[in-house]
Amino acid sequence: QRTDVVVIGGGPGGATAAKYLRRFDPSLRVTLVEPAATYYTCFASNWVLGGMIGMDDIAQTYGALQDQHGVRVVQDRVVAIEADAKRVRLAGGESLPYEKLVVAPGMEFRYDTVEGYGPEVEGDIPHAWKAGEQTRILRDQLRAMEDGGVFVIVPPGNPYRCPPGPYERASLVAHYFKAEKPRSKVLILDRKEGFSKQGLFMDGWRKYYGDMIEWVPASGGGLVDHIDANTREVFTESGFTRHRADVLNVIPSQKAGRIAQEAGLTDDSGWCPVDQLTFRSRVDEDIYVIGDSSIAGAMPKSGHSANTQGKTAAAAIVREMSGEDMLALSTVNTCYSLVAPDYGISVAAVYRYQEGEISKVPGSGGLSPADAPDYVRRLEARYAQGWYDSITDDSWG
Ligand code: FAD
Repeated sequence: QRTDVVVIGGGPGGATAAKYLRRFDPSLRVTLVEPAATYYTCFASNWVLGGMIGMDDIAQTYGALQDQHGVRVVQDRVVAIEADAKRVRLAGGESLPYEKLVVAPGMEFRYDTVEGYGPEVEGDIPHAWKAGEQTRILRDQLRAMEDGGVFVIVPPGNPYRCPPGPYERASLVAHYFKAEKPRSKVLILDRKEGFSKQGLFMDGWRKYYGDMIEWVPASGGGLVDHIDANTREVFTESGFTRHRADVLNVIPSQKAGRIAQEAGLTDDSGWCPVDQLTFRSRVDEDIYVIGDSSIAGAMPKSGHSANTQGKTAAAAIVREMSGEDMLALSTVNTCYSLVAPDYGISVAAVYRYQEGEISKVPGSGGLSPADAPDYVRRLEARYAQGWYDSITDDSWG
């Protein structure tokens, strides 16, 4: 079956691109390839771990894209991009030809960063950095843990999807412990020296959780060298300090999704260089890379970024197909985090393409104010829910 544009991946990047391609030009034939029938959002998956919501609340499906927006959705996995022939090959055997290809496969782990951690142990030691089954495993382990246990989080090195994510996770697991297992601890062994919204998180931690959460930076002995998956022991580099976890969450460092690497769309950094005006690959002029896999200047790897980049690539493709130049767009990203169910903090910025790359508009956005009254934190927690509802509706609705 002939198609004009094929989109690989039904996360916020790919789903938004498919929807907006059809919206900007209803005559386009757009095919979205995604192996899962249900996509579980990583965003709000920490809320599941904190016991605030259930798995169904983070489930997205592709019915609206298909029925309301006229996207052909193929439930399959792309196993090869045959760029010379301009077609993709699917695991099921079918080949799909394309005029333009949008690649949005998210990220893949660098399993060489923490020795002893690999796909073979994920069932026992979840990363829970791709939502769904992994979220369920981690939630169930936290529920089964005895009071007085230690939950160890090993966050990734930069850059990775959702910079504040590990610290929101620590917060909401502490929220759950405080209510159900108050003698338990959250220990964060970090390979970094600082993290997103650090001051705001730490203020919230002190206020809600006392000393329940301990964060150890790399220079303080937090840099994890290897783990023993059988005993759940974690060994850090400085003199090989040993920590024993009751529940262990290793989040390895990251690179572009596997299909992007196999297709040769990545550079030495492991991510995909693109023209940041259009998100067209630097490697192939008929391929666009968006979302986590792309190198998008100052934009962080987030669902909000992926959604915005989906629209940018859709506009660029439609304009190119009709012989029009691309316009420089302003885009935006907001990352909300919940420190507690009614205590939200955020970081926001407006971005603009300028002199060859996407940079932050000076003076735009910013962090939630320090020392804000409680009602401001309460309002931001409500905005976080509103953000979730609108970004999912915009991407899959
Ligand atoms: P993904 O969402 O990973 O989607 C990629 C899709 O491609 C997947 O569905 C996959 O099945 C599919 N795929 C992969 N390979 C193939 C193939 N070969 N063929 C076909 N399909 C393929 N972001 C925010 O903006 N706000 C938040 O509050 C937030 N919170 C987060 C909390 C956590 C705990 C985590 C882990 C992340 C959070 N994020 C948040 C980040 C956000 O989830 C990611 O940045 C976002 O999902 C990236 O979107 P994407 O479309 O690039 O990739």
